[in-house]
Formats: sequence, structure tokens, C-alpha cells
Amino acid sequence: MSRLLCQQCHRPRKTCICQFTTQITNNISVIILQHPNEVSQTKGSLTLLANSLSKCTVIVGEDFSENEQLNQLLTTYNKKTYLLYPHEKAITLALERTEKGTINNQVNNTINTENACLILIDATWKKAYRIFMLSKNLHSLTKLQLPQGFKSYYAIRKTSVSNGLSTLEACCYALSLLEKNETKYQLLIEKFKLFNQFLLSFQKRS
Ligand SMILES: [Zn+2]
Repeated sequence: MSRLLCQQCHRPRKTCICQFTTQITNNISVIILQHPNEVSQTKGSLTLLANSLSKCTVIVGEDFSENEQLNQLLTTYNKKTYLLYPHEKAITLALERTEKGTINNQVNNTINTENACLILIDATWKKAYRIFMLSKNLHSLTKLQLPQGFKSYYAIRKTSVSNGLSTLEACCYALSLLEKNETKYQLLIEKFKLFNQFLLSFQKRS
């Protein structure tokens, strides 16, 4: 049966998502901590994200305290690791544009994005909270959250990672704010919309 799987995305050929991937060189490295329940649930949106970004690592688990791969990455990025997670002490990234439309804001300027790393948790709100509580190595990280006002195109399944956005969307919006580049990640959001329509067309047929 393996010959029926796409070599790139490892999905059945008829649901291959490679037409939706794009190549983006992200300056800020991305780590996705994925709850085991999400592996079969995210319906390829995380694969789409991971295959489109040049620097994206997905680690599956629940308690990451002793996770060697994560701890190694935390050592590498040290104090320049940020966790996108709604928290009372989280810094809300600002969405303010100059007249030329570029993002220029003091809040975002306080974050040192050079050789930085952004961690996201891919889980339902409840499971994300559990991952955060269990994973003690995440507690001391600087937490960031997105401002309100981003629209979600996640038609398939609602998770509440951040503002009801999918992990892919939350990641793209956070990177665009941190890297102060609104257009860079727009194509992936557009591809994600098409990807959702593609999945919906399968749902309607079955
Ligand atoms: Zn494929």
C-alpha cells in the first residue's frame, strides 16, 4: 500500500497536500509541541506548516520536562525562546502599522528576534493548558500572545490555540508580527484557505 502514499507528505495520493505547501525562509525558528491526540486530528495543517517553513520542528508529547530534543533546543536558543501562549504575564504583540503599512511597534521592538525561537502548542485549549502545566521547562520562558482581530479560516475544526486560530494561522501571524513583515506569510495563509476548501470537498463527498 505504501506506493499509494505521497513520498513528500506521506498522505494518500488523492489527499496529497503538496500542492498547498510553499517555501518560506523563516528568520525565527519554530518549534511545535504537539499533543498526541492532535497527530491524527489536525488533518494535515501542521504538515502543511512544517513542510512550508524552512525551520520548523514538531515534537509530540504531553510532559516535555525531560524531553531531550526540546531541552537541547532550549539550550541552543537560551533566552531568545518565546512561547506563544495566553497567560497573565504574556506580552501582547502589537498590530500597528505605519502609513506605509509596515509593522512598527515598540512592543515588538523589545523582543530580540535575531536567532530567536518561537514555541507553539498544538492542542485544544484544555490539552494545551495541561502540556503547559506539566512541562516545567516552559514556565520560565517569555510568553507572547497575539492581539485580537485576526480572522480564522480554519473551517474544518475549531481549536482554541490562540483566539480560536489554528496553529498554522497563529504561527504565521506571530511570525509576521515578530519579523515585522506582513506579506511574507500571507501566501501560506492563502494556501491554507485553499487547503481547507479541498478538505471540505472531501467531507461533502463522503
Ligand atoms: Zn504530497
